[in-house]
Amino acid sequence: LQGLDGLVFDNSYARLPRHWFQPTRICPLKHAHLISFNPPVARQLGLDPCGVSPGLLAQVCGGEVDWPGTEPLAMKYTGHQFGSYNPDLGDGRGLLLGEVIGPEGQRLDLHLKGAGKTAFSRFGDGRAVLRSSIREYLASEAMCGLGIPTTRALCLLGSEEYTLRNGMEPCAMLLRVTSSHIRFGHFEYFYYSGQHDDLHRLAQYCIERYYPQLQSAEQPVAQMFAEVVRRSAELVALWQAYGFVHGVLNTDNMSIIGETFDYGPFTFMDHYEPDHVANKNDHAGRYAFSRQPSIVLWNLSALAQALLPLIEKSRLEAELDRFEELYEAAKLKRMRARLGLQAPRSDDADLIVRLEAIWTEQRMDHNRFLRHLCEWQPGDTSSTNSLLALARQEKAVADWLRQYEMRLEYEAASTPIRQAQMRSVNPRYILRNYMAEEVIREAHQGDYRPLNALLPLLRHPGDEHSEFSAYADAPPDWAAAIHLTCSS
Ligand code: AMP
Ligand code: MG
Ligand code: MG
Repeated sequence: LQGLDGLVFDNSYARLPRHWFQPTRICPLKHAHLISFNPPVARQLGLDPCGVSPGLLAQVCGGEVDWPGTEPLAMKYTGHQFGSYNPDLGDGRGLLLGEVIGPEGQRLDLHLKGAGKTAFSRFGDGRAVLRSSIREYLASEAMCGLGIPTTRALCLLGSEEYTLRNGMEPCAMLLRVTSSHIRFGHFEYFYYSGQHDDLHRLAQYCIERYYPQLQSAEQPVAQMFAEVVRRSAELVALWQAYGFVHGVLNTDNMSIIGETFDYGPFTFMDHYEPDHVANKNDHAGRYAFSRQPSIVLWNLSALAQALLPLIEKSRLEAELDRFEELYEAAKLKRMRARLGLQAPRSDDADLIVRLEAIWTEQRMDHNRFLRHLCEWQPGDTSSTNSLLALARQEKAVADWLRQYEMRLEYEAASTPIRQAQMRSVNPRYILRNYMAEEVIREAHQGDYRPLNALLPLLRHPGDEHSEFSAYADAPPDWAAAIHLTCSS
């Protein structure tokens, strides 16, 4: 297996009780071919990126050639979808191929999304289409570039097979890589089916694998829950800071290690809008941008419910009670950094709330605003004008800038140092829906170069990529007409 033989497999999940999953073979995809390969992820796995044969990778992922060391399986889980419990979930179109031990000893799951029907497919075809696979691939690189915890992917494969979504669309596969494919819904499955010994075993498994430092703690499961609360609070705080709307925050899309997981109709907002709903099918706006923190807390409560056989209710409630404070602290920390405020002051939260109100009232592009703010200097007309140009009502922004200028008086760092720090957390480029739409359009014509060309920009969004300078500007008018649905 040229180039892939360096992978060290050790499939711990496949050794867990047999009723936790269903061994399942990849269902071959017609003319599977490599569209994109991710060298940084290859290195994480211990592969030499230059040594991997694209043809071979397509053959093993496409199911044409056996991949020694893998033991493909579909995991069983359940979960709450839009607030209702669904007992019939599980890997319906993805397979855990196996676990690789990377060069630094870290254990990483290889999960092939779009691998065909499984025991949990229900009425689905087991496939993923190119459009949504590209979106997940781009989004995970963009998240990584922003320093937000996320799953990633080793590669993206295309095919000559078609399936019905928004009309007939080409099928694709994504080889997802992350430390954990365990969802809140894994715990809910054992809880609601009354398999409480398995629930305990699952918690042990997660502690050993993800929270080993807690093994000797007094109450390891309770402490693990506290960690999940903390990581989830910190994750959603970062989403809120960058205007990311996940779109489908069901409990089966919540990772037990607090990563952004299962990208569907997500959006990085072009305009700051608390009511923004990314998913057209979400008529009630359950997963609107401003509701995400309370939805994540709701999901954590669903996890707490599932842990009731293992932990005292009062302890779970106490951990849930800490969510809001953890969330607020994490959000404030990142927003302070985005504003270049290094010496915390008690009225910083107020300064941020006022700015968010301006963004909301004027539907401003807050990511561009903050990037321009990095270049702003008190008294400098040109940088002030470029900020005011983003506003509809200049006065509110000018007033806020005066308050900000006074606040900067308390900063010890010199202006160049503050600006460098701000640039490191305020990207020049953000993955906008229209950018994804453009490369999807090209990919549907068989040209994958625009897709691959976008990856370095997403991984290093703070750098200048001069050939893409238009992506740092306002989106084109047609971007407002893009509608996303669950169909993927
Ligand atoms: P999602 O909305 O992507 O989080 O998926 C919810 C559930 O539907 C999971 O159990 C998936 O495995 C399953 N599912 C989604 N799409 C398909 C498909 N095309 N074929 C079979 N199962 C699917
Ligand atoms: Mg899902
Ligand atoms: Mg999904």
